[in-house]
Amino acid sequence: MTLAAAEPATALPAIEQQHRDQRHYPHGVAFMDGQYLPMSEAKVSVLDWGFLHSDATYDTVHVWDGRFFRLDLHIDRFFRGMEKLRMKLPYNSSEIEKILSTCVALSGHKSAYVEMICTRGGSPNFSRDPRQSENRFIAFAVPFGSVANKEQLERGLHVAISNTVRIPPKSIDPTIKNYHWLDLVKGLFDAYDYGAETALIVDINDNIAEGPGFNVFTVKGGRLKTPAYGVLAGITRQTVFDLCGELRLSVSAGDIDRDELKDSDEVFITSTAGGIMPVSKIDETVVGDGKVGALTRQLTDLYWEKHADPAWSTAVNYA
Ligand code: PLP
Repeated sequence: MTLAAAEPATALPAIEQQHRDQRHYPHGVAFMDGQYLPMSEAKVSVLDWGFLHSDATYDTVHVWDGRFFRLDLHIDRFFRGMEKLRMKLPYNSSEIEKILSTCVALSGHKSAYVEMICTRGGSPNFSRDPRQSENRFIAFAVPFGSVANKEQLERGLHVAISNTVRIPPKSIDPTIKNYHWLDLVKGLFDAYDYGAETALIVDINDNIAEGPGFNVFTVKGGRLKTPAYGVLAGITRQTVFDLCGELRLSVSAGDIDRDELKDSDEVFITSTAGGIMPVSKIDETVVGDGKVGALTRQLTDLYWEKHADPAWSTAVNYA
């Protein structure tokens, strides 16, 4: 078999060129290969295993009113993930903290969604051996975004339980924050088809696992519970445990089946992208009295109060 000579590169048709030039990106600043760039210029190689094989780990922290929230916990989880994936970067945690802070400061955002990513990278000879890849670090800061919008935060989200099974822990360790999201995205489309606003998907035993970018909690008789198996150990989930400690509320991690979820007095979801967010309807079942519950409200208020507390947050240096 002979290989056909490669076609010479041709100019893009004018219409495509125009389309390409009009692509819009959120306002923000990224860091790649030692440089700070506008978001529109932050691009990865199509040969990077992070893109080709989802071979990457990442973490997302938010900035609220000019302060990072629990940045140390996010950076620690990021380093634990890299270690488990046998990835290495030439930066230590305080250097990463400085890079993230610079991205936020250069963006000017007082409230931001800040991501740090380590991809497997690639090798000059396109080797199939991951040990030969040069791992890559990318960071960026864009405007703060939330799973729930203002109206949904006030009235509670409508969630549908999808039959899609979250990738099991024996396949992918869920404590490594990862981009294996095909199950979560399928769950989201199932929820939209159902007429709901977001999804919860199940674990291999048909218990509730998590949703696209969030953990879930139930409240029953004043006691809180969250799934233990096959989920990311969310930093917001951890924060709820810490707040429950302060408020002397009972909280535990364990299996929650569909009936238990629907029979709860209150349900809320947790994510760096939005914090603590109420759920008022699951499939066709109204949760509790259909309003945002008292404990959900109390925890949400305390959660946002902690954003100004130096024990829980770090100021961005905008100078
Ligand atoms: N579960 C998954 C699959 C996630 O991707 C996320 C966050 O992106 C969460 C849970 C919530 O984690 P955190 O509270 O650390 O944002």
